[in-house]
Amino acid sequence: MALLQISEPGQAPDPHQRRVAVGIDLGTTNSLVAAVRHGVAECLPDAQGRVLLPSAVRYLGGGRRLIGFDARDTQAEDAANTLVSVKRFMGRKQADVAGADKLPYQFVDGAGMVAIATRDGIKTPVEFSAEILATLRQRAEDTFDSDELHGAVVTVPAYFDDAQRQATKDAAELAGLNVLRLISEPTAAAVAYGLDNASEGLYAVYDLGGGTFDFSLLRLTRGVFEVVGTGGDAALGGDDFDEAIVEMVLRQRGWPVLATHSANDKRLLLATARAIKHDLTDADETTHTLSLQEHGPLSARVTRRDFEVATAPLLDRTLSAVRRVLRDARVKPVDVQGVVMVGGSTRMPRVRAAVSELFGREVLTNVNPDEVVAIGAAIQANALAGNAKDGELLLLDVIALSLGLETMGGLVERVIERNTTLPVAKAQEFTTFQDGQTAMAIHVLQGERDLVSECRSLARFELRGIPPMVAGAARIRVTFQVDADGLLSVSAREQLSGVEAAVTVKPSYGLADDQIAQMLKDGFSHAEADMAARALREARVEAERMVLATRSALAADGALLSAEERRDIEALVDATQAIAASDDAAAIDEAVKALATGTEAFAAARMNQGIRQALAGRKLEEV
Ligand code: ADP
Ligand code: MG
Repeated sequence: MALLQISEPGQAPDPHQRRVAVGIDLGTTNSLVAAVRHGVAECLPDAQGRVLLPSAVRYLGGGRRLIGFDARDTQAEDAANTLVSVKRFMGRKQADVAGADKLPYQFVDGAGMVAIATRDGIKTPVEFSAEILATLRQRAEDTFDSDELHGAVVTVPAYFDDAQRQATKDAAELAGLNVLRLISEPTAAAVAYGLDNASEGLYAVYDLGGGTFDFSLLRLTRGVFEVVGTGGDAALGGDDFDEAIVEMVLRQRGWPVLATHSANDKRLLLATARAIKHDLTDADETTHTLSLQEHGPLSARVTRRDFEVATAPLLDRTLSAVRRVLRDARVKPVDVQGVVMVGGSTRMPRVRAAVSELFGREVLTNVNPDEVVAIGAAIQANALAGNAKDGELLLLDVIALSLGLETMGGLVERVIERNTTLPVAKAQEFTTFQDGQTAMAIHVLQGERDLVSECRSLARFELRGIPPMVAGAARIRVTFQVDADGLLSVSAREQLSGVEAAVTVKPSYGLADDQIAQMLKDGFSHAEADMAARALREARVEAERMVLATRSALAADGALLSAEERRDIEALVDATQAIAASDDAAAIDEAVKALATGTEAFAAARMNQGIRQALAGRKLEEV
């Protein structure tokens, strides 16, 4: 099978007919759209001159809805029907989302992923995201006075798995966008800083957004960023800093903690805290007043010093996650050549200072941290649309977890290793285990472990109609193909007969990112245990294969043996079968060897007979 092909950028046919392509950062808290105009990538503003679009939709009923600031700023009025931070639910089941029970939503576990019941019916994360994306598409079309966008590059977190990427792509398509490619957020940020043209080596991306913290370690080699490590906390972001302010203010006032307030008062308290936090990025102190439905008026005065003390534990959690990623990758902070700061929360002066301290170098902050991901995506989109100048590199992403197939004995044969650059297609040949086998079960798995039970099942399908042959004669070529967006399809083809079957893997829901991290970690720490388990399983499979093969040979050609020879072989077969059930890989190997030796003469006799028959057959044909 040919490698999946992606056309690299060439000059647009007519330089005056530039194709308009945009980059979109579909964020948990805020989303943006950017494009290259007059050779410079910049974020596109709305009619009021604002580039951020809060990722918020308020459903008003009768199909009417508010999107962006209008939704976010009025969420206190109707928290249950105002959806925010929905990216956490993309491609996930409710049980996979930490803290979902604390949100003011009515969740419905729908087919594939969780959805939310609103006044306007049930909304999936895909539909919600499509509203945001369509708003940004409209903005781009208004800006360029064009109703034909060539396409968009949409960013996703580096740890997003297949299901989450597919959900993002579905949302973009639902919004009428032609998705040129999905790229990872840290890669986009690195591109925005032009690091793809910088010297090869290690770069770090520290992304503290509204609700999530992501840290990625990238290695640049020949224009390709490889994700060396990812980490972070899917439930830690600017929102937690807001909460810390609220709790501090309530404590000072002697009022009960945030959790005890009504949904709408909670939203009001949090919105005020966010305003206080933003003020403190530039000011040393600030005062805001608000009026709660239950407890009445409140005037909150907060100093930067108090704020930094109250939120120090949150900052420390991000730094621990950074150190963990560095440690796992065996990288020292000084080995990192550049640290990119991403996300609105990296505006906080204390955050910048702490990260600089950890790495012992100035961090990169001169590209606006809200905009940096969208800008990098726009640069990629421009290149993919064929507008880039010659020599501009296209960046490629890598797959986060290895992909493989289940083989006999519950083992995983890896077909594509993790960190392979996308797109990629790889094929491997497999064969049948039993004589006359006409079907083969193909089980596609993701993970770093050797045992099927420890990996994640992505898909199963069957290849049927294999012509009956002796075990091991069929040649089944299984091809794994992962496209540039990280989406997988698998096909299997029996080479002699040409029968084939294929599946596009669209898993119904994804893994939590900490599950991915855990799977990666387990893969490394269990490597030894896995090797022992693999040895045992392989020994068992070999024993079973020998037992089966010998029995079928006895059934077919037992007549070639004397009664005594036959008894001896049967005894060896029984012994092998008995010991195959034990946990002693060495003993099983021993028994298999004994069986092989004990059947050598029989095998030779069968072969002679086979040759005689073949020759006899030839003569007949010739006659
Ligand atoms: P996401 O990637 O999750 O969509 P963003 O990168 O847009 O998020 O970051 C949003 C967060 O940044 C919010 O918590 C917001 O309060 C915070 N933020 C934005 N500007 C500032 C500022 N000047 N000071 C402190 N925090 C800020
Ligand atoms: Mg972001």
